[in-house]
Amino acid sequence: MSDTQSEILEALNLPQREAVTTTEGPVLVLAGAGSGKTRVLTHRIAYLIQKCGVSPQSILAVTFTNKAAGEMKARILKLLGEAEGATSGTPTMGTFHSICAQILRRDIGSLDRAHNFVIFDSIDQLSLIKKALKEVAPNSTISPRAVLSAISRAKNECMTPEAFAVQKGGDYFSDIVGQVFPIYQKRLKDNEALDFDDLLGLTVELFQEHPAVLEKYQRMWQYLLIDEYQDTNHVQYLLVKLLSEEHHNLCVVGDDDQSIYGFRGANIGNILAFEKDNPDTKVIKLEQNYRSTQPVLDAAFHVIQENTRRTEKRLWTDRKEGQAPHIYEALNETDEASYVVGKAQELHDNHKISLNEMAVLYRTNAQSRAFEEACMQAGLPYRLVGGVKFYERKEIKDLLAFLRIIQNPEDEVSLERVVNIPPRGIGAGTLTELHRLVKETGGLKAALEALHTDLGDQIINSRGRENLYIFHAMVESWRELNRRENVLEVFDQVMKETGYLEYINDGTTQAEDRYENIKELRTTISAYTEFGPQHGLSVLLEEVSLMTDIDRAQFASEALTLITLHQVKGLEFEVVFLAGMEEGLFPHSRALLEEKELEEERRICYVGITRAKAQLFLTHAESRSVYGESRPGIASRFLVDLPDDLVTRSDWEDKYVRKSSSLAASSRGAAPVHSESTGSRQLKDSKAGSKFKEGQRVKHGSFGSGVVVQIKGDELTVVFDKVGLKRLLESLAPLAAG
Ligand code: ATP
Ligand code: MG
Repeated sequence: MSDTQSEILEALNLPQREAVTTTEGPVLVLAGAGSGKTRVLTHRIAYLIQKCGVSPQSILAVTFTNKAAGEMKARILKLLGEAEGATSGTPTMGTFHSICAQILRRDIGSLDRAHNFVIFDSIDQLSLIKKALKEVAPNSTISPRAVLSAISRAKNECMTPEAFAVQKGGDYFSDIVGQVFPIYQKRLKDNEALDFDDLLGLTVELFQEHPAVLEKYQRMWQYLLIDEYQDTNHVQYLLVKLLSEEHHNLCVVGDDDQSIYGFRGANIGNILAFEKDNPDTKVIKLEQNYRSTQPVLDAAFHVIQENTRRTEKRLWTDRKEGQAPHIYEALNETDEASYVVGKAQELHDNHKISLNEMAVLYRTNAQSRAFEEACMQAGLPYRLVGGVKFYERKEIKDLLAFLRIIQNPEDEVSLERVVNIPPRGIGAGTLTELHRLVKETGGLKAALEALHTDLGDQIINSRGRENLYIFHAMVESWRELNRRENVLEVFDQVMKETGYLEYINDGTTQAEDRYENIKELRTTISAYTEFGPQHGLSVLLEEVSLMTDIDRAQFASEALTLITLHQVKGLEFEVVFLAGMEEGLFPHSRALLEEKELEEERRICYVGITRAKAQLFLTHAESRSVYGESRPGIASRFLVDLPDDLVTRSDWEDKYVRKSSSLAASSRGAAPVHSESTGSRQLKDSKAGSKFKEGQRVKHGSFGSGVVVQIKGDELTVVFDKVGLKRLLESLAPLAAG
């Protein structure tokens, strides 16, 4: 055995080794998180190539993301050693969608379709559905998105429009879907387009109708390996079955406890039924976890064991010692983010843990905003996975562009961005003409005011001119409002008059995200009302643009990862922060009523906890702003599942009050601590003399809104939403209930 070859097997435990060396026939590795399933696949590929002399071209490996495929490839090359790795070529690796796209590019001709098809994303899909809906039921109020999901579900079940029409439920909705489905498919075809579901569905169709084509791929890919098998849906299941039914050299790995894509049709049953479909399956269980310490595993176990639909398994680890998972109860989402970012910074500075080894996980995309802002304020580099940064998101940029025009009548860039959003008949031609007018008049403001002069008449086509005039008048009215009212009123008026919410509400999943983001933006803006009319808007815009600059300047390769729980599958970090552990947020409110969905939320939580190698922080907030309003937060049931002797706890009072009273306050982070009350004073013992109560919300002339956390005679300790903790003398401070 060469060195590299022995490494392929020696770095594995016995059951892992068995999974790697059982190369012929079906193998099912059913095992918990961090037990080395992905490692088994990687080593198995290297073993097949090196020990069994299998050509890399005969191997097909399916991973959950293309990035995972890339990482796996890199490790295989390393295991094979430079020389062999470089000469032997690489296996086919990627997601189901990318592999199917490759197959179809080659062979879709057999289905009488063009090879140069385009792939439609959900926005394109929706526009087709909307048009079809208009034809079929012009007056119906059915949401195009609901129709699209129904069609997508049908496609994932490999159902044709004809089959759907035969079996449909007989109710009005299915009737409409039944009519839209064939029109939608025809439009796709007319556009030479496939949607995501077609990539899989047409490949199955191709294989079923053209045995010669199927045979070609069966012969080519003699060895199949599938990661994250628990999240395959029906059509993916069929693909695997078709490709493997001749040779059965199929190795799938998965963990039923980590099935978290049920809402997209993933079927946990596929993994549970594997043995039935593949007689003589060798089932291998892996029980040793190499990723996490015992306390982390215990936490994961306590959460997942509440589920009833699961195969019983428990992991063990050699790493018996470890830090207890820590639960932090935050005051609100700002405090939560400041705690997490402060902790990350401390672990980095004092314990030399790389930021790349830390991740903040949350349930919904909108939660990232608070963490992004805290990172920017603290100057901590971060990496937002799977999303555009908050202030770079289209809807946020659009709405800020409206506000910018109010603030600065010469801002042509912002005007161009939103002058036709939502569409109001101002096209590129009109904008070119406007630009000429701007040159003539010397500025945007002057140009807009000259629309109805002879010059305007000469330069701009009359229809475009009228529409521009209406837009200009609308902006003028906002400017007027901004002179009288606070920035939140102005923002609300912009939302209302532009109909922006209706504009983004196109029924897609993105629309839901956008809506959440707009709510987040409104929450941010509400903090600027205290600056009063006009001033509030300018402070807001300035701070936002500074944030963007700092963000750009400080983006470095070492960074804290911000990521949703759904995207974090398969990854691991030294330190994991699981944020927003509150009822209604996580578990998500949509899941609170359905037992089945609650079990999925629980699995999502299990996935999150098991990403941690050494340290786990779970945070929840006492109150959270939703759409500019503060709502009380109840600790997630998943936290309740963790026994007291397993975890340690702290809360915002520890962070602010106790710390500041011992004067060991630090001034870092979003909540700087310093005392306003210096000079001599007499402290009364009772709280009775105060007109405030502990826990009451108050408003300060310059610090804005906050909560009274401690009363000692005349001295009040208040945590302000924006500036953090301050000590004030009640008799002197401009403080009122609010
Ligand atoms: P998940 O369910 O989260 O996808 P997994 O079962 O795929 O996890 P891996 O990611 O393959 O687990 O492995 C978890 C960690 O344990 C990795 O860092 C891996 O390198 C390490 N590991 C796995 N097996 C061994 C082993 N036999 N010896 C040393 N380290 C191992
Ligand atoms: Mg894995």
